Amino acid sequence: VFVVFEGGEGAGKSTQIAHLATLLQSGGRDVVVTREPGATEVGARIRRMVLDSHATPTGPTVLAPRAEALLYAADRAHHVSTVVRPALARGAVVVSDRYVDSSLAYQGAGRSLAVDEISWLSAWATGGLKPNLVVLLDIDPTIGLERAGRRGAPDRLEQESLDFHERVRMGFLDLAAADPNRYLVLDATRDEKELAEEIAARVGKLLPP
Ligand code: C5P
Repeated sequence: VFVVFEGGEGAGKSTQIAHLATLLQSGGRDVVVTREPGATEVGARIRRMVLDSHATPTGPTVLAPRAEALLYAADRAHHVSTVVRPALARGAVVVSDRYVDSSLAYQGAGRSLAVDEISWLSAWATGGLKPNLVVLLDIDPTIGLERAGRRGAPDRLEQESLDFHERVRMGFLDLAAADPNRYLVLDATRDEKELAEEIAARVGKLLPP
């Protein structure tokens, strides 16, 4: 079973992933918690390359958007092939912090590349592997950026306009609306414990006995 968490900055993905992983592990499940970009050694180098390229004071984006999209796709191809597929093959529950939807939302809706092109690039990179469930933690970027800022997020967050983050948010919501059965959309400002319970209940339905 493959579960993905998506959402903008400060949505609380890591917190909810930790709750879910603890719960599943306490129930004796084999759980692999992973993330994109940067879960593998190669991925960590790609992550640095992409994220550092934003952190220059000279402009909002020094990496060409198509190059950025290809680097995320390369990270994902390697991640799926060396981490996600092997774990799924042995029957583990894989929980990933970000996956294809982040590319559709950030590189597609955010950077205004064609979403269908990012979609086929992602499908090629993953060999068509889709999650069983996407938990979308939806948050108003004004609140999310504030929350992310409070825990010391990288400077590059400041370099993207609020407008960029609004487009990303709408990108995620559009994806969820187009395939409602595969998504659990939650208001990320709700109580942490309540959110964890709702996520656990939904994931529980996907698990074999
Ligand atoms: O998940 P995390 O917040 O660590 O991701 C790092 C950053 O990479 C995010 O802040 C997001 O802005 C960016 N990102 C992106 N496109 C992706 C994945 C992540 O722009 N496909």
